[in-house]
Formats: sequence, C-alpha cells, structure tokens
Amino acid sequence: MNLILLGPPGAGKGTQAKMMMEEFGIPQISTGDILRAETAAATELGMRAKSYMDAGDLVPDDLMVKMVKGRLSQDDCAGGFILDGFPRTIPQAEGLAGILEGIGRKLDAVLAIEVDDEELVRRLTARWICRTTGRIYNMITDPPLEEKIKSGEVYQRDDDKEITVRNRLEVYKQKTAPLNEYYQLKGLLLNIPGTGGAENVFSRLKNTFNDYDIQS
Ligand code: AMP
Repeated sequence: MNLILLGPPGAGKGTQAKMMMEEFGIPQISTGDILRAETAAATELGMRAKSYMDAGDLVPDDLMVKMVKGRLSQDDCAGGFILDGFPRTIPQAEGLAGILEGIGRKLDAVLAIEVDDEELVRRLTARWICRTTGRIYNMITDPPLEEKIKSGEVYQRDDDKEITVRNRLEVYKQKTAPLNEYYQLKGLLLNIPGTGGAENVFSRLKNTFNDYDIQS
C-alpha cells in the first residue's frame, strides 16, 4: 500500500501515520522528522534546511524530492509506505510521480485530514518545552507551572510561536492546499474530518479507506 497523508500542520498527520503504521505494517515517512534529525546532526542538508524550518517556510523542492527518493529506495519501503508531510507543493507531487514511475510503483490513495484554522492555531501553539529536562508540556492538556514560564525555564520552539504558526498555515494554503484538487482529479483523494480525539479520527480514516478499497 502506497499512501499519502495530507492536511495542514497540526491536523494530527503524525499521530494518524503512526497508528496506520501499526495497523498496516508499513513505515511512516515523515519529512519533518527526517529534517529535524538532519538539523540536530548538523549535516549539510540539515544546515540548509534550518532557516526555512525556523521561519515556518518550505525547504526547497529539489532538496525534498532528492531526500524522499533516497528514503523510498530503502528496503523497508518495499511493501509500501505512508508519506507524512510530503508532498507539500505541486512540483513535489510531480517529483514523487517521477520517482514512483522510476521504481514501477503507483499511489493507492491520498488521505486528507481536515481541521479548521482556529483549532489548528490552538493546537500548534500549545507545545512548550523545558530547557533543563526536555519535557514537553501542552498548554491545553498538561500546562507547566506559571513560574516556569516566567523564569524562561519552559519555552516555545520558534516554529510553534503564533506568528510562525500563522505563517505555516498561510504557506499551507498557498502551496499545499492545491494538492487536494490535484489528487482529486486523479481519483485518489479521500477526505477525513480531523476533529475529536485521535482514536475517533483513526476509525473514520479506516472506515473511509475500507469503503474506498472495496469500491476500487
Ligand atoms: P512538519 O513536522 O511536517 O510540520 O515539518 C516541519 C518543517 O519542515 C516544515 O515547516 C518545513 O519547513 C519543513 N518541511 C517538512 N516537510 C517538507 C516538505 N515536504 N517540503 C518542504 N519543507 C518541508
């Protein structure tokens, strides 16, 4: 099964991709995770990507397509994959089509998770991190003590700040949202409402996917 998970930042793609990985036994390929690992290891790609990521902008398409091409050629992708966070532009989608054609594979479905903007901002700005322990807090479900925020011990990552989050959503609308129509025209798009808990979204996703599988 060769799948793409589409949706705005904060829609819960990562969580759903992990649940799908368990259920279907195919790897999740998160380009955001790969880039964060490259940045942490200060590789050449990581250094080139960092400034774009910190600003909430997209890393250039050619770098992304090359990175995904390398990842899809690894053995664990032989039985399928779930792309999470890629493609994010039409040129990336075309790059992906070229990669898949080159290895004689095709996409089975594109699952698009839908969540409205204000809910996304609320979710995306909720993550705060402790400088000393690395512990992750959630301002909605698991807030830190007020004094930890005042002292600066608990802080927000640059790409989680509201101004950056709004920029990420704007970038999504301009560059990524057109992919829904792109895949719709290819008859591959499945829309999944992304509200409610992760388990609810996952059962909707499975039902939608099973119905589609039966019909196709
Ligand atoms: P994510 O964790 O998927 O939200 O990705 C974090 C950041 O990595 C994004 O805001 C982009 O700067 C960068 N990134 C991840 N995937 C892509 C992609 N397919 N194309 C361009 N930039 C990406």
